[in-house]
Amino acid sequence: MHLMNADLHCHSNVSDGTLSPEAVAERASRNGVALWSLTDHDEIGGQHRARDTAMALGMGYLPGVEISVSFANKTVHIVGLGFDPDEPAIVQGLADTRGGRERRARDMAADLARVGIKDAFEGALKYVGNPDLISRTHFARYLVEIGICADPHEVFKRYLTEGKPGFVEHRWANLRDAVQWIVGAGGVAVIAHPGRYDFTPNEEYALFSDFKAHGGLGVEVVTGSHTVAEYDKYADMACEFDLLASRGSDFHDPAESHTDLGTLPNLPGRVTPVWEALESRVLRP
Ligand code: AMP
Ligand code: MN
Ligand code: MN
Ligand code: MN
Repeated sequence: MHLMNADLHCHSNVSDGTLSPEAVAERASRNGVALWSLTDHDEIGGQHRARDTAMALGMGYLPGVEISVSFANKTVHIVGLGFDPDEPAIVQGLADTRGGRERRARDMAADLARVGIKDAFEGALKYVGNPDLISRTHFARYLVEIGICADPHEVFKRYLTEGKPGFVEHRWANLRDAVQWIVGAGGVAVIAHPGRYDFTPNEEYALFSDFKAHGGLGVEVVTGSHTVAEYDKYADMACEFDLLASRGSDFHDPAESHTDLGTLPNLPGRVTPVWEALESRVLRP
């Protein structure tokens, strides 16, 4: 089970990836992925296309999403796997979570104008595949296009993050609601890339224990966002908190993403893979 090539975190142009759901499926399949989930940000509009293509390519599929949550004054991402994408409460919850994105994007553009970067809203919009889902990634691509930064990574160091031009405070879903939408639709909730949040040990402990108390069951251990040392740290935390472990590339684009679909190391032997608990939810050809 540890050796299965599962990739349970990636994005299409239904959120801030650049490939269609069909093209992401084809790339996953080509790279040997046996169990796949498309986890667009706050959006499940690509799920039926992803599932149908996975079935045609002979890949196991789990419906997926990555929900933006506000916790301890930071944004945390919660991945949902194996839920029913037609369940009304998660459909409505995600629509509400997406709701403020356009207003936020206009405010981000106004803040960029303050430092002399004009028309960033219109510029970012050129990269948007889904008008309901304008994200910081689309702004990052525009700032690279106009030569302000060399690549999106540099953008997030100099712009769009806390204290930098273009950053706008935003209230996302709360942790309890996000977990309940996923669990209520029959799925498993997973803390995405915990190594990325810069939490103090106390804040991280609070995230893990609140998440568990709300019914969360899993944590990403091997992800494109973690260092090798973090694979080890979060494998230990999965054991300590009795959480299932997940694995996913967080692939967005062939050139931008340093981790391709299905190419990460296997999960460490001491954790229980999240897919063991999701066997009955896997859609198979
Ligand atoms: P948003 O949901 O609009 O806040 O955008 C978040 C997205 O921005 C993430 O899912 C990543 O795709 C991207 N992002 C955030 N921080 C970074 C970073 N430091 N480097 C590269 N991409 C980032
Ligand atoms: Mn993203
Ligand atoms: Mn994320
Ligand atoms: Mn992601």
